[in-house]
Amino acid sequence: MDCSKVGYLISTLRKEKCMTQKEIADKMNISDKTISKWERGLGCPDVSLLAELSKILGVNIEKILSGDLEENDKDGGNMKRTKFYVCKNCGNVITSTSEADLSCCGRKLDYLIAKPEDETHKISVTDMGGEYFINVDHPMHKNHFISFVAFVGYDKALIAKLYPEQNAELHIPKIQRGKLYAYCSEHGLWSKELR
Ligand SMILES: [Zn+2]
Ligand SMILES: [Zn+2]
Repeated sequence: MDCSKVGYLISTLRKEKCMTQKEIADKMNISDKTISKWERGLGCPDVSLLAELSKILGVNIEKILSGDLEENDKDGGNMKRTKFYVCKNCGNVITSTSEADLSCCGRKLDYLIAKPEDETHKISVTDMGGEYFINVDHPMHKNHFISFVAFVGYDKALIAKLYPEQNAELHIPKIQRGKLYAYCSEHGLWSKELR
């Protein structure tokens, strides 16, 4: 641990939360002098205190240990950059408009990299007048199915969570261009431009 980096991080996060050194110290049943010492880089928090400290500051323990907060660009909220995260254990689907440190069921999740649609994961679009009918002709068995279909435009995202024995379909209003996604429980994420 680099105590001066860690101290700077603690001080930054504490101020973001508008908390005084004393408030944090009281929550942790330690002396505010200890917090002040950390923030000045004169010592690092003891490992036994990290879990509590990370909860109070709202960051992962690893972030405190590294003393770095990798920050996203401020325009990271753009929908077009939407990333999908899927928990293989429980099926949870999480979207984020920037990279995020996410975990589910105790496991760290990495965002999915979409592959362009292939013959077995073909995303068909039918123009129905006012809307598009999106459909993926793919098995929908318990162990191999499309678990969601999504549309991501520049300021909108629509996502349909699907279950086995359903059809892999989604209706979307004809609002804008964007990207279509289909996630196969076996083969991962597939995408296609919607023009
Ligand atoms: Zn999970
Ligand atoms: Zn598949």
